[in-house]
Amino acid sequence: MTARIIDGKALAESIRNKVAAEAAELKRSHGIVPGLAAVLVGENPASQVYVRNKVKQTTEAGLASFEHVLPAETTQDDLLALVRQLNADPKVHGILVQLPLPPQIDPDLVIATIDPAKDVDGFHVENAGRLVVGQESLVPCTPQGSVLLAKTVHPDLTGLEAVVLGRSNIVGKPVAQLLIAESATVTVAHSRTRDLEAVCRRADILVVAVGRPEMVKGSWIKPGATVIDVGINRVPGENGKSRLVGDVDFKEAMEVAGAITPVPGGVGPMTIACLLANTLKAAMVANGLTPPS
Ligand code: NDP
Repeated sequence: MTARIIDGKALAESIRNKVAAEAAELKRSHGIVPGLAAVLVGENPASQVYVRNKVKQTTEAGLASFEHVLPAETTQDDLLALVRQLNADPKVHGILVQLPLPPQIDPDLVIATIDPAKDVDGFHVENAGRLVVGQESLVPCTPQGSVLLAKTVHPDLTGLEAVVLGRSNIVGKPVAQLLIAESATVTVAHSRTRDLEAVCRRADILVVAVGRPEMVKGSWIKPGATVIDVGINRVPGENGKSRLVGDVDFKEAMEVAGAITPVPGGVGPMTIACLLANTLKAAMVANGLTPPS
């Protein structure tokens, strides 16, 4: 058996096109241009690439992009002052502060300072709590993208066995909450889980977010299962170059799974697409309009 490859690039593109069309309509009918502020502190090369992509895709979708690049030695007080300024700016509907931050800055304090209504990353405890209790919220982008990809294979997740490998606040836990909301039967596994392989093998839907290159082998996967690989790991490749791999051994998984997301080209592109959708939503809510579902 060879698994079907789930095309994250194509789904992300269709989401971006939908956001662009809705943003154009919002501008035409109400004169509102959704605005996303991206704050980057320091010179982490991966973060620089990521923020550059965000800015490009934001403007391509017809949204306003406000980029703030601060030096690595920026103080916590200065960053908090910028966040408060963005909170108060009516042109800014979404704020994202790129993580990781330099050691002198407490990321929890920064996230807590972002207005929850502008927290398009969905990391503020108010949004995290709303997700848990099933209230309308801004949902973290990578988890949202992961579940949308699973739903391309299973439009109805009701009653399916889902295993989420990883319990971080930014990926594992919100993925689990979203799957619960979809009425899947959810198990969250982590570094202390006993007999991890057997737990993973129960899954109809296996979402992997561990940050360990190719850790999940073919023998861990139930035949026919849908595998969503959130991992992005850079490993040494041929001729001294590096290459990206997921947390799942793609080659082995292809022989067992029913469907699988590739790395790159799976969950990765969905993150920014969902970020743009969250920014549009935040802009509409801020103006008393009902966002699209
Ligand atoms: P974290 O390091 O915050 O969390 C990793 C989780 O995996 C933890 O819950 C940890 O368990 C668990 N884990 C680690 N090692 C093992 C192991 N050997 N066995 C079982 N469980 C283990 O990572 P993130 O959630 O932030 O990211 C996960 C992956 O997703 C990374 O590869 C990251 O690059 C990628 N990512 C991709 C994004 C995208 O846009 N596509 C966005 C964000 C992340 P414990 O809690 O017990 O320590």
